[in-house]
Amino acid sequence: MKLSVLPPRLEPGKVIPLKSEEELQVLRSGGKVLAKVMRHLQQFAVAGVSTIEIDELAEKLVRQENALPAFKGYKGFPATICVSIDEEIVHGIPDKRILAEGNIVSLDLGINYQGYFTDAAVTLAVGRVEARVKKLVEVTKKALSEGIKQARIGSHLSDISYAIQNYVESHGFSVVRQFVGHGIGQNLHEEPEIPNFGKSNQGPLLKKGMVLAIEPMVNMGTWESKILDNGWTAVTADGLASAHFEHTIAVTENGPEILTN
Ligand code: MG
Repeated sequence: MKLSVLPPRLEPGKVIPLKSEEELQVLRSGGKVLAKVMRHLQQFAVAGVSTIEIDELAEKLVRQENALPAFKGYKGFPATICVSIDEEIVHGIPDKRILAEGNIVSLDLGINYQGYFTDAAVTLAVGRVEARVKKLVEVTKKALSEGIKQARIGSHLSDISYAIQNYVESHGFSVVRQFVGHGIGQNLHEEPEIPNFGKSNQGPLLKKGMVLAIEPMVNMGTWESKILDNGWTAVTADGLASAHFEHTIAVTENGPEILTN
């Protein structure tokens, strides 16, 4: 397997926006709203439910909380959530497909609350799933915590990337290269890009007030991916399962603060 060692990219002249305490307060509120909606969706996403039904509930709940769906209409994306099943990595489009026992399903939701964006994703097992698939989900979840732990003032951005890749590969799985985490706040996607791979000690230093959406996408087999004909849905090149977890976090004087918990 070819391992990419690209450092996190920050083009010259681009800066990572720092959020004030007032902005962080709004992001905390938005993060709580998002977490509440996600908890509700996780209860609802069981065998027999269609992905469009989950999406409709998501949009209703987001709007009830006086927030706006961030993905709907973004570059033409048609739905409130991305729902990605089994070999789908990210950006699955909700439709009539019904969740079945044995699936794993990733729910990815971004919202705009009072002008500030937060973004989170979780992968759920629908009923009982194969042991190795269950392990994939657990490793991806833990990889997110390993990445978040590195989000400290004075660390390098790529320390997050390295921690995720190292943890994932030590369990025999692979990290997706085509999609990366991102800064977030006044926009859904801000500087910097946060790859889930790379050497440590590279790229910009982390500073107080940075807000980052860290999101490991982990494949059971090859890291390689392709995009389906709908122009959105990314799937694994080998058809094996993929999992995805994401939190929006803030870099603070007290260490990483998860906003979407
Ligand atoms: Mg994201």
